[in-house]
Amino acid sequence: MKNRRFINAATELIAPVNFRCIVCGKDIFDESGFCADCLKELVFNNGKTCLRCGVALDGEEDYCGNCAFDKTYFDKGYSPFCYEGAIRSVILDLKFHQKGAYARVLAKYLAFVALKENLQFDVVTFVPMSAKSLKKRGYNQARLLAEQFCDILNVDALCETVVKIRDTQPQEKLSRTERKTNLTGCFRFSPQANVKGKRVLLIDDIKTTGATVNECAKVLKRHGATSVIALTVASRREKFDYENEQENL
Ligand SMILES: [Zn+2]
Ligand SMILES: [Zn+2]
Repeated sequence: MKNRRFINAATELIAPVNFRCIVCGKDIFDESGFCADCLKELVFNNGKTCLRCGVALDGEEDYCGNCAFDKTYFDKGYSPFCYEGAIRSVILDLKFHQKGAYARVLAKYLAFVALKENLQFDVVTFVPMSAKSLKKRGYNQARLLAEQFCDILNVDALCETVVKIRDTQPQEKLSRTERKTNLTGCFRFSPQANVKGKRVLLIDDIKTTGATVNECAKVLKRHGATSVIALTVASRREKFDYENEQENL
């Protein structure tokens, strides 16, 4: 019985990631996580990006609306994907449909970015969830991504540095003014952590407004981090429109 239970558990954990496309479920014969058809549909964030936060830019500007007008505490942001199409549904599954195993596939792309951009870090950390949300979901997808990232790169650098002390509204549903106050004071530095004089890599699943990683970066900088790089699986594409700036940002 014991063995059978073990085999079932292992199959459940590994099979969906290793042998099935995480978008369409088709059988695949490598560990890439995507079939050839779905791979073609992925929108990589490999065009022009904001010089600070790394979101995709369509216009002439060098910075996105947030980085151009608001103070950013992280030094640089990177995302391998735009938050569109297939990757959006994969992230929603990872987050809301108990597909924690998808973190392995997605973390490979984070590792590619870290190697390609030669990112320098001493500590790998992740955007936290409140204790209440964590209990409800059973796992923090950002933590899973950070764990898999460290495992893939074989680095012993994972550290919980920031805790979330209360629940907040999803940023993308709020107005620009509401977004600024929504996250105020919701993150605290973890008493066991130490980032003094250290370069921190902060991992999360998505970056839409960038306010969440920015608030975490603020806490990390206040506790002595020398640099904070935000690495997220996907980020928004900015369609910059100066005339409607107040409404859209
Ligand atoms: Zn597929
Ligand atoms: Zn930006």
